[in-house]
Amino acid sequence: MTLLVVGSVALDSVQTPFGSAEHVVGGSATFFASSACHFAPVQLVGVVGRDYPMQKLEALAASGVDLAGLERVAGESFRWRGRYGHDLNSAETLETRLGVFADFRPKIPAAFRHAPYVFLANIDPQLQLAVLDQVSSPRFVGCDTMNFWIASRRNELLDVLRHVDLVTLNDGEARQLSEQVNLVHAARWILDRGPRYVVIKKGEHGAFLFSRPDRASEGNSSPDARVRIFFAPAYPLEQVFDPTGAGDAFAGGFMGHVARTDDLSDQNLRRAVVVGSAMGSFAVEAFSNERLLAVTADEIAARIREFYELVTFENGR
Ligand code: AMP
Repeated sequence: MTLLVVGSVALDSVQTPFGSAEHVVGGSATFFASSACHFAPVQLVGVVGRDYPMQKLEALAASGVDLAGLERVAGESFRWRGRYGHDLNSAETLETRLGVFADFRPKIPAAFRHAPYVFLANIDPQLQLAVLDQVSSPRFVGCDTMNFWIASRRNELLDVLRHVDLVTLNDGEARQLSEQVNLVHAARWILDRGPRYVVIKKGEHGAFLFSRPDRASEGNSSPDARVRIFFAPAYPLEQVFDPTGAGDAFAGGFMGHVARTDDLSDQNLRRAVVVGSAMGSFAVEAFSNERLLAVTADEIAARIREFYELVTFENGR
């Protein structure tokens, strides 16, 4: 099943304790598509300026991502500059230059409007809402966001939450959005605002999937029945090179798996968390989206098997 993603296509400059990269291919939609294209046909909508090195997107197109919805307009491309210290779990944003994103109004090509799976990657929530106005009853919609938008576009973001099935956030963003310290409380607060599922990512400490139970258990008012929780660890890599894009790669693996299987059961969404975690682990092995695009189906399958080994144990003596 086809998967539509709308988000940023950026030029990133990143410093990590292991090196730095200047003006490399980045952006939430780019990382998402580089991950999701291993599982499902991906359609990308975004904008770049005339300064964008288009040849650097050729690998994405060659991997089957349909770039017909990527506009190229006069002006400067979106640029993000970030730095990671020894705690690789959170980036310090040094500079965000919206450039052509400041005046961007997403136009979903007619051929993309019926995509059954839609992901609103991290961009201005006003643009995420504009996308929702143009798609015709998708089966499942996911969205992502970040501290920048939680602080500057809170009301619009709450409006987005009313219209999506899934939201992905990291733990700091979940706390900032909900103003709750405890993550279970934060998840419940978010679920109460609309989405059926919330994924809270904790970087090298794994990811939680929280969900509202289905109708059958709604009569049960015990606290456990009000929210279901699944957890997957992060893959214990020996070397993390650049964490940029891990969250988007996670979302791409998650949504890609769901679009490929077209199965919205709880069990399958749990599998999607593991596929997302596997893709996030590939993203951080190199700068930009290089490793993500190069990874093979066998490598993905092997890493998913390793996740299984990592968490399986016998219950009982
Ligand atoms: P992640 O590390 O998965 O959270 O995402 C990193 C990507 O998000 C980078 O490639 C940035 O270009 C992009 N990004 C950073 N800030 C923003 C923003 N305010 N809006 C949209 N995309 C952003």
